[in-house]
Amino acid sequence: DASALVLDGKAVAAEVTARIAAEVEHLVARGHRAPGLAVILVGEDPASQVYVGAKGRKAKELGFHSVQYTLPIDTGQDELLDLVAALNADAAIDGILVQMPLPKHLDPMAVIEAIDPAKDVDGFHPVNVGRLAIGERDRALISCTPAGCLTLIRRALPGGLAGLDALVIGRSNIVGKPMAQLLLQESCTVTIAHSRSHDLPALAARADILVAAVGRAEMVRGDWIKPGAVVIDVGMNRIPAPERGEGKTRLVGDVAYAEAAQRARAITPVPGGVGPMTIAMLMANTLTIACRSAGVEAPV
Ligand code: NDP
Repeated sequence: DASALVLDGKAVAAEVTARIAAEVEHLVARGHRAPGLAVILVGEDPASQVYVGAKGRKAKELGFHSVQYTLPIDTGQDELLDLVAALNADAAIDGILVQMPLPKHLDPMAVIEAIDPAKDVDGFHPVNVGRLAIGERDRALISCTPAGCLTLIRRALPGGLAGLDALVIGRSNIVGKPMAQLLLQESCTVTIAHSRSHDLPALAARADILVAAVGRAEMVRGDWIKPGAVVIDVGMNRIPAPERGEGKTRLVGDVAYAEAAQRARAITPVPGGVGPMTIAMLMANTLTIACRSAGVEAPV
């Protein structure tokens, strides 16, 4: 039927961040310091500036100690690694985030690996990726976008995920692969599809949970969706919208929303679905690190 539950990421993110703000007050009231988040931006990429600005604002709003480093585009690798090392040693900083993509002359993996795994709020360090893979979720830090997706999936499936068939389309290190690991941990039967996969519609037809993280506008069609499936659309694609006026654009996901909403049990809109959850999970990870270092139990 046409009554898919709309998974309102904005509302869920607001709930999550309200809980975080309360927890920060609670920490500080017990004499601990506020969680500290350091965000490093190299260069002036406009999209990155927007993301970094939003992260810093949200951190401040939640009562975090929030610092931003804006480095010139010609910053050298050693200089960047020195800053990371200084932040690793800074007791007021819990989370270190280096905004990607970096300018081409810098090696992103070397920078990620320089971050203390215990402060790796993005969950990109191989130690955290490995901990997730071996099922040590409690000691890992988990990539924010898939963590946000899982929160939304759990909302849609209060009976649990165990035994369900899940399809993740996309195998990037930041979204697809960690998403698949999380769903495996939830005891789903997980299929990971990518650009070389055959017959995506047939794979989708079996999927009780479908996560699309591809970057191709409205690639997943409504008639692919298994009736009653939970559909999570990570994609953010800007397409021309001449109906809004000349030169105008609009944001769409990887899923043809209106069609898919006819068949899904629950679906995330774009915008307003996965996007707002990503930043909320970044704040949750920072709080988790602060709780670990204060030796108090991290809130779930
Ligand atoms: P990547 O480009 O790193 O990965 C895309 C994946 O999609 C690859 O694994 C690729 O396969 C696969 N793919 C490409 N074409 C096809 C196809 N025709 N059929 C099946 N699979 C295909 O992207 P990201 O994972 O970083 O991001 C995916 C999307 O999510 C983007 O639109 C991005 O903007 C968005 N995004 C949104 C976030 C949010 O907070 N809402 C956060 C991060 C990303 P292969 O590996 O074979 O090349």
